[in-house]
Amino acid sequence: MPINETPLNAGWNFDNSYVRLPDSLYTRLNPTPVPFPQLVVINQPLADTLGLNTKALESAAGIAILAGNKLPEGASPLAQAYAGHQFGHFNLLGDGRALLLGEHISPSGKRFDIQLKGSGPTPYSRSGDGRAALGPMLREYVISEAMHALGIATTRSLAVVTTGESIIRETELPGAILSRVAASHLRVGTFQYVSQWGTVEELETLAHYAWHRHFAEAESHENRYLSLLREVIKRQAALIAQWQLVGFVHGVMNTDNMTISGETIDYGPCAFMDAYDPATVFSSIDTRGRYAYGNQPQIAAWNLARFAETLLPLLHTNESQAIEMAEEAISDFAEMYVHNWLKGMRAKLGIFNEEQQDESLIDNLLSGMRKYGADYTNTFRALTLGKYEDLIWFETAEFKQWHEQWQARLARQQQSTAASQQLMQNSNPAIIARNHQVEAALEAAVQDGDFTLMRKLMDALSNPYAYTPEQNEYATLPESTETPYRTFCGT
Ligand code: AMP
Ligand code: MG
Repeated sequence: MPINETPLNAGWNFDNSYVRLPDSLYTRLNPTPVPFPQLVVINQPLADTLGLNTKALESAAGIAILAGNKLPEGASPLAQAYAGHQFGHFNLLGDGRALLLGEHISPSGKRFDIQLKGSGPTPYSRSGDGRAALGPMLREYVISEAMHALGIATTRSLAVVTTGESIIRETELPGAILSRVAASHLRVGTFQYVSQWGTVEELETLAHYAWHRHFAEAESHENRYLSLLREVIKRQAALIAQWQLVGFVHGVMNTDNMTISGETIDYGPCAFMDAYDPATVFSSIDTRGRYAYGNQPQIAAWNLARFAETLLPLLHTNESQAIEMAEEAISDFAEMYVHNWLKGMRAKLGIFNEEQQDESLIDNLLSGMRKYGADYTNTFRALTLGKYEDLIWFETAEFKQWHEQWQARLARQQQSTAASQQLMQNSNPAIIARNHQVEAALEAAVQDGDFTLMRKLMDALSNPYAYTPEQNEYATLPESTETPYRTFCGT
């Protein structure tokens, strides 16, 4: 074999702990091979973080792995079992079109799940085909990486490959596989599954596993299970506040789509809000607005209550005491969330310290934005840049009054104007993944195989707090149309 055909070592370094858990938690299974895998996008910075060699991933042998046609050394693929409340209704779910290849240990010793999404049917597929379409996988790739760049905890995307197969949705679409990288794929729904169908010993094993995997460094109290509950609540309170602060609408906050690690997961019908409105919904199936922007904190608390319920047998042998402990922990969520959100909002307004009236300052801004249909991201962008004339409600009495209130507030803190502006720049993204721009980029990629727009968009989104001139074009709003932007679950 000529030297240049020697297979490169991609650097996969698996150590699979999930497969050592009780086997009722998963089904061991290989990916279903695909006819003609082709790499469409690869995430070099993420590959670097993972200690993977991009050149090797891009080779035929590397692509075969990303498509599920070959297994990397050390992988032990499995479909995870889980349950979940979908729009409030409890169902048995599980990886119906994804497989966990295993856990890769990075050069810094961090453990990452490597999952192939779209890898073929599993025992949990129900009536689904186990496959995914290129458009939605690219969408997950773009938005999850945009979230990461915003500094928000999220699963990430290593690569997307096309399979050479068409899949049938409303129309025929090109099939694709996304390689998803996550701190873990433990979900609230994983606990619900074990709580419903497993034994208390299995539940205990799972809880220990989750603790060691994600909270080993956290302070452990006497009751390990109560600590687990409290830590998950803490991380979700931080995460949801971040979503709200950037105007992210997840769209399908079912309990199976809420992680134990505190990462955002499952980029289905998600989208960023344009004009500020708590009732914002994008998902075509969320007809009642259960997962509307403004409902996300309450839904998170509801999901966490479902998580707490699964832990009851572990919290205390006396059920009513267990319930009391769980309720107390859950009731902390609202306070933690509000604390994080207020802290974030103060930073968005360049405020360093705390004053009682800050809440009314923030409320007044939001009600003005709502009344005049102001764009959420661009409002904070204009305030950051001092370009108030860009604001749709610049000429109104409400804005003048609010602006005075804000300036007076800033004058009452010790920090300089420059420090305050810097804080705003670091807290207000100059751009977000705008729906019309994401759509245009994906359309060019899927229809024409032209990735220029997508690369350019991702480049701009990779440093959202930079405020570079190249980012200006991404701050433009969609032309107003009669029909609101809709996202679909049929991914
Ligand atoms: P999601 O809407 O992606 O959170 O998926 C909800 C559930 O449906 C999960 O159990 C998925 O594995 C399953 N699912 C979604 N799409 C498919 C598909 N095409 N084939 C099989 N299962 C699927
Ligand atoms: Mg899901």
